[in-house]
Amino acid sequence: MAAPLTDRVALITGGSQGIGRATAALFAQRGARVIIADVNEAAGAAAVQAIEDNGGTAQFVPTDVTDRAATEALAEAAQAAYGALDILVNNAGITRDATLAKMDGDAFDAVVDVNLKGVFNTTKAALPYLQGSAHGRILNAASVVGLYGNFGQTNYVASKSGVIGMTKTWARELGRDGITVNAVAPGFIETPMVETVPDKVMDRLVKQTPLGRLGRADDIARAYAFLASDDAAFITGAVLSVDGGLVL
Ligand code: NAD
Repeated sequence: MAAPLTDRVALITGGSQGIGRATAALFAQRGARVIIADVNEAAGAAAVQAIEDNGGTAQFVPTDVTDRAATEALAEAAQAAYGALDILVNNAGITRDATLAKMDGDAFDAVVDVNLKGVFNTTKAALPYLQGSAHGRILNAASVVGLYGNFGQTNYVASKSGVIGMTKTWARELGRDGITVNAVAPGFIETPMVETVPDKVMDRLVKQTPLGRLGRADDIARAYAFLASDDAAFITGAVLSVDGGLVL
């Protein structure tokens, strides 16, 4: 049986849909008390309802991770709701793809603000509470493109490479607090985020994937659940690719 997350308090940004929603649902199923933080309030409320319908415990806190004060209020709300904070999953992310020649400064800033600075804001706000946990875990959403680059994604790749760098830095800094810090690098996962990728590109990606399919949100949720569990107690600073072998 998979390692439980019984009574751990887990805060998941971008948990209203896609990978974040699947992660929140799986964590709750394994016994965690979950806080979903997202800008999408309607979808967040639906995600909480689905968890509660399955007998789990969850709350939604509307939060824009680019707003430092809002992330501070979020961390306080998590602590106030459940009296602890054990696991932070920095999952919120966006794309605004264009080649370097066509990418404007706004598209660069917007993606870096959410994907990189949002991770900084939320982690800094959550840190004092995570330091009070006996099982502190920080899990960051990277991407295989943050390791290898990708055509048309200067902004997104910069943000994800930066997340990998912060993961390794925080693993060094926070080990003495008993906090592990790891990143998951998904390949291409069937979520609303990749709906704009043309079918012919997706078909080519499937052909290039040794396991012969796109990833599913659950594939990534299970990787987060493993890294959040006691089974991963001695893993820190790792970047776990979950991509069906797409990049080898
Ligand atoms: P998604 O677009 O389905 O969900 C992202 C969620 O983040 C949404 O609920 C959105 O409302 C929320 N969000 C966006 N901006 C926010 C903000 N400023 N503050 C709070 N919440 C915000 O995306 P997904 O595919 O589930 O991706 C989740 C994470 O995984 C992202 O960090 C993404 O970069 C990463 N990732 C996804 C893939 C993929 O193929 N889908 C691959 C590699 C990495």
